[in-house]
Amino acid sequence: MNSLDIAERFGFLVYKRKSFPHLSLRFKGIDLHVDSTPGDGFNLITHAHSDHYGHKNVENPKAIASIETAKILKTVSNKEFSGVIFKIGDSFRLGELKIETYPTKHIHGATAFYIKEIGALITGDVKHWECLPRCKVLITEATYGHPSFVFEDEIDRLLSVAKSNIALGAYPIGKAQRVAEILNSEGYEFTAEDKIKKICSALGIEVGNSGSRIVSPRNLKDGYILTAQRYYRRPRIVISDHMDYRGIIAMVEHCKPEHVLFYHGKPSEKLKKELSDMSITCSTLRDVDITLP
Ligand SMILES: [Zn+2]
Ligand SMILES: [Zn+2]
Repeated sequence: MNSLDIAERFGFLVYKRKSFPHLSLRFKGIDLHVDSTPGDGFNLITHAHSDHYGHKNVENPKAIASIETAKILKTVSNKEFSGVIFKIGDSFRLGELKIETYPTKHIHGATAFYIKEIGALITGDVKHWECLPRCKVLITEATYGHPSFVFEDEIDRLLSVAKSNIALGAYPIGKAQRVAEILNSEGYEFTAEDKIKKICSALGIEVGNSGSRIVSPRNLKDGYILTAQRYYRRPRIVISDHMDYRGIIAMVEHCKPEHVLFYHGKPSEKLKKELSDMSITCSTLRDVDITLP
């Protein structure tokens, strides 16, 4: 389904802006730019990962982000977030649009936006789909959209290596806080590199001074990389911020959309076929064929 098909069937426009990331929606004259650089209208920021462009919106008064997302963006940019902030679970209005927010547990602050009038749910990246509402159009991600990505987090392995005061390579925004919270909840002492400490402290997560050390993957010399991605050569423990392939299908079954638009990550042919077997139409950013300045 291309932009026109979606407009005809669901009554809102999905478009791209020339050479800007991801996509935008227009309904009743209101433009919503999703995980993109600032534009006329409003910018919805699902979470603070840089490939979702929150850092480009720190000084945009019409950017909209959760309290935790704003805290992370402030910590990494050293600038106060000047947009509109909300508590995850609250709803707010943009003109005639009522927007509800839901947690996706991808990283701290990660939010899905449900636009009631058009039945569209924009999820951003997702770890847990259980709190998401039903929707007509699911605008979502497929980071692990290939059936070969089936995994469980290896928490027990993480805890067993963390006993031996080892280096743990975790992406500083999100993954590092996930690991810090797991270690805290099990009573393990650990420390972290400065950037990670700062983000933890902005979110109220305690970091100690001894024990295992959480570092960015790029600063990892010996130790384990914590990821579900398979392209790392070092010893790896699966700890993911995303759902796996089965999770994507389970989310779709849970949200019961008529149409799924993958705007981030790469759905495989197999995934598209599975949706079509469920009588759900599906498109990707490539099918968004209206470009506005
Ligand atoms: Zn992300
Ligand atoms: Zn992402």
